[in-house]
Amino acid sequence: MNKAFFFDRDGIVNVKLENDYVKYVDEFIFEQNFFQLFELIKKQNYLAILVTNQQCIHKGIITDNELYEIHSYMQSELLKHTNYQFDDIYYCPDLDSSGSKYRKPETGMFDDAIKKYNIVPNISFTIGDAITDIQAGNKVGTKTILVNKYIKNTEANFHCDNLNQVHNIIQTLSNIIK
Ligand SMILES: [Mg+2]
Repeated sequence: MNKAFFFDRDGIVNVKLENDYVKYVDEFIFEQNFFQLFELIKKQNYLAILVTNQQCIHKGIITDNELYEIHSYMQSELLKHTNYQFDDIYYCPDLDSSGSKYRKPETGMFDDAIKKYNIVPNISFTIGDAITDIQAGNKVGTKTILVNKYIKNTEANFHCDNLNQVHNIIQTLSNIIK
């Protein structure tokens, strides 16, 4: 039985590009305070699972190999700065129009990880900057954290403006549980 943190990528791990996809390693800039949050979560023994929609692949903008290179860079930087890495990476290359069961707000990526790692959803979290992340996280039964300055009053359990606020919440919750 495991607990996990399901991370959206663009807008949480790295800075989201305005109307564009991250196509090269150079365009992958970590979000402020992401390393601190990631380290805290790993020290609390959560599995860190990346669940990211990347329809840029089926649009022909980048290849699976190019995405793999970006994620290898992400993993090596995480290791360098925190001593931890994502335990697994799931991405959905399918187009929004495909009706894919893997593309958030659908839950295919979560379902596969829950099965593979024996994850208990109600002691796990989903963190994202879009409503679709929260919808997927809620469907599978995790707690949900929306990090978005502009969207409030959603079905998320927690609303934060930035990752520093998330860090404080996780720290506080762990003190209560202790
Ligand atoms: Mg996002």
